[in-house]
Amino acid sequence: MSVGASRDGRREELERRLASVRDRIAAACESAGRNPSEVSLVAVTKFFPASDVDLLMELGVTAIGENRDQEASAKVAELRDRAGLEVHFIGQLQSNKVGSVVRYADVVQSVDRPKLVTALERTAASHGVRPGVLVQVSLDEPPDRGGVEPGGAAALADLVAECEHLDLRGVMAVAPLGGDPHLAFARLREVARGIQERHPTATWVSAGMSGDLEAAVAHGATHLRVGSAILGSRQSHR
Ligand SMILES: *Cc1c(COP(=O)(O)O)cnc(C)c1O
Repeated sequence: MSVGASRDGRREELERRLASVRDRIAAACESAGRNPSEVSLVAVTKFFPASDVDLLMELGVTAIGENRDQEASAKVAELRDRAGLEVHFIGQLQSNKVGSVVRYADVVQSVDRPKLVTALERTAASHGVRPGVLVQVSLDEPPDRGGVEPGGAAALADLVAECEHLDLRGVMAVAPLGGDPHLAFARLREVARGIQERHPTATWVSAGMSGDLEAAVAHGATHLRVGSAILGSRQSHR
């Protein structure tokens, strides 16, 4: 098969998968009585090449999520055209990677501790940027896989809001493995509301992935981070 033909095949596959995800989002919005324009799709492209991001952009995707700095920085540099693409960092972040991440990330969704806030603020100031920040809330009991405990989220959000070079946008969470995503996302929504009372512009709720996006929409998610349902199984790309 020629390179052009395989590219066309991949484009068709992504188009089909993307359409099906958009249908699911539309149906979930319909059930929840929400307007689909309130819900943004972040395509999680980790493990997949820059060429897939190029294709997704042709298909109307305007935001991608990446979880590892090395992979993300290389991929973004390889894109045919970066214009119009919002890059979200969604992975656990070490303070020493912050200097790299602020070079390409418009939004850092995984801010879960004061040390990271301080490092981001200092680095954003020195780069003359003002990234969006979401406070990652842990819905695992006990807290696991990153995220601040729900009880500590408001204080961390206050800290972000005090930073001149960080733009507090809201909260992010991953539903617990094997748990009921409805319970988890209902909890996240409460945390989000508490933060929004103090910071009215922090309206984003990033929740929901390929397996639980309907539950997230039902509980007020504004951003869905969808990987495998759009790009296919990551297994074969590891
Ligand atoms: C990988 C990842 C996703 C996407 O998961 P899928 O199940 O492939 O949709 C979403 N959020 C985070 C934080 C991730 O690491």
